[in-house]
Amino acid sequence: MSRDGYRKEDRAKRSAPQQGRRRLLFLLLFAAAVLLGAVLLLINRGAAGESPFNYTELLMDTEVSLQLFGRKEGEARRIKETLFEEMRRLEQLLSCCDPQSEVFEINRAAGKRPVAVSPETAEVMQEALHYAAISEGAFDPTIAPLLELWGFREGDYRVPAPDELAQAGGAVDYRAVEAGGGEVYLPQRSMALDLGGIAKGYIIDCGLALLARSGVSHALINAGGDVGILGPKADGSPWKIGLKHPRSEKILAVIPRGERGAVVTSGDYERFFEKDGVRYHHILDPRTGRPASSLISVTVVAPTAVQADALSTALFVMGPERGLALVEDLPGVEALLVTPQQELLLSSGLRDLVELPGDGG
Ligand code: ADP
Ligand code: MG
Repeated sequence: MSRDGYRKEDRAKRSAPQQGRRRLLFLLLFAAAVLLGAVLLLINRGAAGESPFNYTELLMDTEVSLQLFGRKEGEARRIKETLFEEMRRLEQLLSCCDPQSEVFEINRAAGKRPVAVSPETAEVMQEALHYAAISEGAFDPTIAPLLELWGFREGDYRVPAPDELAQAGGAVDYRAVEAGGGEVYLPQRSMALDLGGIAKGYIIDCGLALLARSGVSHALINAGGDVGILGPKADGSPWKIGLKHPRSEKILAVIPRGERGAVVTSGDYERFFEKDGVRYHHILDPRTGRPASSLISVTVVAPTAVQADALSTALFVMGPERGLALVEDLPGVEALLVTPQQELLLSSGLRDLVELPGDGG
């Protein structure tokens, strides 16, 4: 007799209620095993921090995500709530367009009076003026009148006439800003600040500092592709940061990074409009008043996100020669540039580090 035949016979001997009870018992045991497994997984995750907790929130006009290792779930959730709340507070302080923000108040008081600001706004202002100076004005936090003219502030895009550009450009000059003693003053009524090229980086750094104060040593904050890192992953391996290709859905390159630091990208594809087949994007050359055109994407790797953010915008305007020369002078700073011909240019320290598709890496 075949084994099958034997089983059929055996089963046929049992009564229907008996079979039902056995099935129920089996199901109960199975459910208990699944539950136990899940509990063990959670405990293990909290203790050893093998896989990170992931949280995402909409902030700074983009999707901001946090990956955090090595905490129990309840703790991780509390840390994430404090983090996003702090980031939201800073965004509100530094926003160009929120009538409640300090930057808005500085702009409203332009040509009239200095404005007392919080230590955070004062600090970003100092950083912005520093990067304006070392980039010889390629990065300029007083770029707002030009952004306004192109419609990049309200979204009412248009191509301005040359005389309009000249007039608005006349109000753009970081050297005229008076900042110090907890106050900021724009001496001309036509002047205005826009910290869009640096605020996100500053806020990421503040977020990382908050995580460090909470005892976290393995975390990553990703604000729409601008990434800040606190230590390696829990197992000591580096995070792998994928860079978006500026003209396709492909990954352009991968940068492994395991220490505290940042990888920030400025691209002409992030905010732009097209008119008569021409692309006009949001990073303006203060000297011409027009979108900078010698690069299409700039990624900067630096010890802090504020540095990486300001420099990615600065290099975008400076172009490949001046941009790479500046990077070679700055310790711990590296850059990856993409030209309009989609040629990749790397600073010296990045050549051995970056993984390109087809590298096998
Ligand atoms: P994103 O904010 O898209 O990540 P960036 O960091 O490059 O990209 O910042 C671009 C923003 O910087 C613009 O939206 C504008 O607010 C501001 N900006 C544009 N041109 C300049 C410039 N030459 N100097 C300083 N800030 C600029
Ligand atoms: Mg920037």
